[in-house]
Amino acid sequence: MNMTRPSQPLCRGCGQSINGYYLSALGAAWHPEHFVCATCHQPINNTQVNVREGKPYHTQCYRDRFDPRCAYCHKPITTQYYTHNGASYHLECYQEHIGPRCQYCHKPILGQYYTHEGAFYHSECYRDHVVPRCAYCGKPLMSEYLVDHWGTKYCKEHQGQYPTCAFCGRLVPPQQQDPQSSEHVRCPICRASAVESLPQARAIFQGLMQQLNAQGLQFNNIPLQIELVDRARLAQLLNGRSGVDALGVTTHSTHMLNGQVVRTEVNGIAVLRGLPSTLFRGVCVHELGHAWLTLQGIRGLPSWAEEGFCESCLSYWKLLRHIAEELADGTTMMQA
Ligand SMILES: [Zn+2]
Ligand SMILES: [Zn+2]
Ligand SMILES: [Zn+2]
Ligand SMILES: [Zn+2]
Ligand SMILES: [Zn+2]
Ligand SMILES: [Zn+2]
Ligand SMILES: [Zn+2]
Repeated sequence: MNMTRPSQPLCRGCGQSINGYYLSALGAAWHPEHFVCATCHQPINNTQVNVREGKPYHTQCYRDRFDPRCAYCHKPITTQYYTHNGASYHLECYQEHIGPRCQYCHKPILGQYYTHEGAFYHSECYRDHVVPRCAYCGKPLMSEYLVDHWGTKYCKEHQGQYPTCAFCGRLVPPQQQDPQSSEHVRCPICRASAVESLPQARAIFQGLMQQLNAQGLQFNNIPLQIELVDRARLAQLLNGRSGVDALGVTTHSTHMLNGQVVRTEVNGIAVLRGLPSTLFRGVCVHELGHAWLTLQGIRGLPSWAEEGFCESCLSYWKLLRHIAEELADGTTMMQA
């Protein structure tokens, strides 16, 4: 851009001849006041001119118009920037507003991250707070691990290393084993619901009797007793029988006359002490089936028929209980 002495050139801006000093730029002459910025239309009278597609701009006007703009704050980007899905962002705008945030600490993620169930995590947040931990030894389960029926997650190596609960099949690590019970390996959950005391057993038993009575399984108003027994006593009562009855048995009193058995009466059931309450209920209902058959004078059935009847009682009772629970839940039952 030069100021040149006149020889009557024409101004590119207004088309009029120029008397006096003129300005030579972009291969033409201009009245100094007509060489204006294409953005703000103010004269450009310093020596720095930015040209784009044949049009002049102030440096600042040029930047405002042509520098990349941040897709978040819409201000020009002059230094480092970040592109994401074809849009450009200030580094800070991207980190604070666009980029992934750690689902655990909610801070922006700048470097490496982990994705888990559709969420992003800092590697450390993931390792220290998110990754599931072994239910038994507490180690983070970063690679392969096992999950049991109840959703318990644990290291592969514990399978076969720990015994399983005799009632539910869960693994029982040494620190969870029952110091009091040598009879069976029992997990803490089964232990927590275990029926250990006679008052506890009686309360459940009375409730079951009422439910069965309500379903028409009458026990002739005979006050049946519930007994909790250990394995040795149960084996004695079972007298060599085993199978489905292995956790409970009906008890009888025998009336003798002159050393002869004249009458045998069923007077209750005996159940292994320490069963989880769900199992305890099941055993009670099954044994009450036997008691009912005896009270009805139905004897001499083949064992498959008698056991089948008792298991049907149990299935029927489970079904009723399931329906009762669903009704209590407010879930609608579909009529089949
Ligand atoms: Zn002019
Ligand atoms: Zn301008
Ligand atoms: Zn921005
Ligand atoms: Zn984090
Ligand atoms: Zn483990
Ligand atoms: Zn268990
Ligand atoms: Zn049976």
